[in-house]
Amino acid sequence: MDGADEGDEESDTGPAVTREATLITGDGVGPEITAATQLVLDALGMKFDWDEQYGGMAAVENAGTPLPNATLDSIRRTRLCLKGPLTTPVGGGYRSVNVALRQEFDLYANVRPTKTIVPGGRYTDIDLVIIRENTEGLYVGLDHTFKVGGDPKAVAQAFSVVTREGCTRIVRYAFEYAKQHGRKKVTIVHKANILKATSGLFLETGRMVAKQYEGVIACDDKIVDNAAMQLVIKPEQFDVIVTTNLFGDILSDEASGLVGGLGLAPGANIGTHAAIFEAVHGSAPDIAGQGIANPTALLQSGILMLRYIGEREAADKVENAMLAVFKEGKVRTRDIGGMAKTAEFADAIIQKMT
Ligand code: NAD
Repeated sequence: MDGADEGDEESDTGPAVTREATLITGDGVGPEITAATQLVLDALGMKFDWDEQYGGMAAVENAGTPLPNATLDSIRRTRLCLKGPLTTPVGGGYRSVNVALRQEFDLYANVRPTKTIVPGGRYTDIDLVIIRENTEGLYVGLDHTFKVGGDPKAVAQAFSVVTREGCTRIVRYAFEYAKQHGRKKVTIVHKANILKATSGLFLETGRMVAKQYEGVIACDDKIVDNAAMQLVIKPEQFDVIVTTNLFGDILSDEASGLVGGLGLAPGANIGTHAAIFEAVHGSAPDIAGQGIANPTALLQSGILMLRYIGEREAADKVENAMLAVFKEGKVRTRDIGGMAKTAEFADAIIQKMT
């Protein structure tokens, strides 16, 4: 569990140990932010033994498929992966490799914290976590078009699949996360007024799970459209949000906007047998290759990864150095009003660590 020490079995590794992890640098800005993140993590002295593998467009170019078997084999072995963003063709083309990885390794919990780390933004004290169900809902891939008359795409249809088991485990994860992180409330976000079967099952199951935590963790629920608005108007009312796949995807991008944007939003995909850490954002093709992307989201994902494997001291060290750079305000990337390049920002953090 991200930061909740599901990786406790490994928490006795100690800071000097080399830990093998799969590395997918990804597409677009991926190689730039991954290089910066690697530099910072390697400067800790606690070395990761990176097994670099391809995924996405880079894999199509190098291995003829967006998700090579070698990549899957590596994650099966290491059970730990740091991943840059992967481009997914819009409309046609291959299926999302991100979704495929989450399903292949049953990474059912997508943990996306949103926290104010850059002083001087619109909101001063945001600290919430969105826990998104990561394997079900509209992302199961049952998405089809049908020919009517001469129009090959006259009708489009998507199936959403929600199971009681899937709802139970993600809501339970959210409550356990809340307990282990000293959080007070879980908000179940749904659309059960319209999607009575799928979202209805999520809400019904969520409320049942919530009963087991009565008196320990508070619980409320909100319809997703209202939750989206409330996030902007009164974000401090949220602590932990648990929701289904699509709503979590959208709300977490929205939440990142409260603290300065996608360049600052980390994520962890947690399953029983593997975990993949990645930024919330995509491959940012509009700024790729310029060396100006903000590596913070991926670096924060690296911090979540360190906590997951029990390296709390190392995680604190990187986090404190990163926060100190933000507090000082001299070295910032363009997305948050600075002029620094990706590598300069990473260097500034390394300077603070040494
Ligand atoms: P995006 O997240 O790539 O970019 C949205 C906006 O945020 C852009 O203006 C971009 O410049 C900015 N941005 C993103 N990351 C940034 C960073 N680190 N620093 C500074 N600015 C940053 O979203 P998109 O353009 O809709 O998607 C591009 C591609 O990424 C698509 O193919 C999409 O499928 C894919 N995608 C992948 C993942 C993933 O790998 N987990 C997630 C989302 C989108």
